[in-house]
Amino acid sequence: MEKVDKSKPVLVTGATGYIASWVVKYLIDEGFTVHATVRDTSNNEKNAHLYNIGEKGPGELKLFEADLLRDGSFAEAMEGCGLVMHTASPFFIQGIKDAQKQLIDPAVNGTRNVLETASQTETVSRVVLTSSIAAIYGDAVDKFKTRNGVFTEKDWNTSSSLTHQPYSYSKTLAEREAWKIAENQDRWDLAVINPGFVMGPSLSKRTDSTSIDFMLSMVNGKFAMGVPDFYFAMVDVREVARAHVNAGLREEASGRHILVAETVNALDVADMLRDKFDKRFKIPKRKLPDFMIYLFGPLQGFGWKHLRKNLGIPYYFDNSYSKTDLGIEYWPIRQTLAEHVEQLDNDNLI
Ligand code: NAP
Repeated sequence: MEKVDKSKPVLVTGATGYIASWVVKYLIDEGFTVHATVRDTSNNEKNAHLYNIGEKGPGELKLFEADLLRDGSFAEAMEGCGLVMHTASPFFIQGIKDAQKQLIDPAVNGTRNVLETASQTETVSRVVLTSSIAAIYGDAVDKFKTRNGVFTEKDWNTSSSLTHQPYSYSKTLAEREAWKIAENQDRWDLAVINPGFVMGPSLSKRTDSTSIDFMLSMVNGKFAMGVPDFYFAMVDVREVARAHVNAGLREEASGRHILVAETVNALDVADMLRDKFDKRFKIPKRKLPDFMIYLFGPLQGFGWKHLRKNLGIPYYFDNSYSKTDLGIEYWPIRQTLAEHVEQLDNDNLI
């Protein structure tokens, strides 16, 4: 018998999100019934793109209300599901006032809430968790602790804390909690997706996702003076969504999966966009000198410790397991970036 019964519905948590929306689309395209949880089923503006996906079929979409911080609130949506995709988690790295409340509690307690409900739901045989490379490394300098300077699925973030890189800390604690819960039962197994910084066209017109905000700031003049010398390990949102679906449906899929196409720095991103769009948008042309970043970074929420451990330091990931275990084929990030900007422009968001 197959591990995952494909006739059963699939639960996707945080379905309104940038990544989850693509996961929902691929599942509906493949004919699945998707139980999509959102925080507010009456918010038609936020949920409109999900209704559109559902209407196109051939699969069926059912919306449920659930909140990570409300114990048991995923039970109704999970009823009868064979597969659970847990993507919901707060993703922001700036403007954090209370990291425990804003990041750690929803990430960790939310993971516990969803996975313990999975343990109580007889039909569930697999859970796919959206973790992050943030659970693999904390700062770029951590690469010096690896064997050959390249992070793999064996690495864990040991340098983040409540006060230093709290988003990364939230993802690390949440993924550790997920493995702990998975090991305490034997009906469902866990597959984890660890994406890098996700880019590429969005299915909704929301701009409050960190990925979309970053891309907008590369073309709307926010960095007109220049960009800091930060490196990003990037990946296309569609590859990340495909990885979720394959991790859920492939019998043999297991363990953690790094999803990274390429490491690029902020000026590489600007150069690729300028090659494509030339003068159409206000794309940065130069790197800002490091001393300016040290001067003004703290005002933008980047403390000196963060700068010291990340500025100007490239870091790399081994993505080979995602290719063999999940069959992922990576597109050039240049294409991803261009298609993302085209979508933002077509939706009049720039
Ligand atoms: P996103 O668009 O901001 O989506 C986050 C989702 O989580 C939203 O649906 C949001 O619901 C939901 N959520 C947040 N707090 C919640 C709560 N208390 N209860 C229920 N739902 C809640 O971000 P994303 O980029 O798609 O991120 C999705 C997942 O991927 C997250 O786990 C994130 O850590 C992970 N990830 C993202 C990236 C990236 O570069 N984008 C990289 C690696 C990992 P609302 O719509 O109601 O706000």
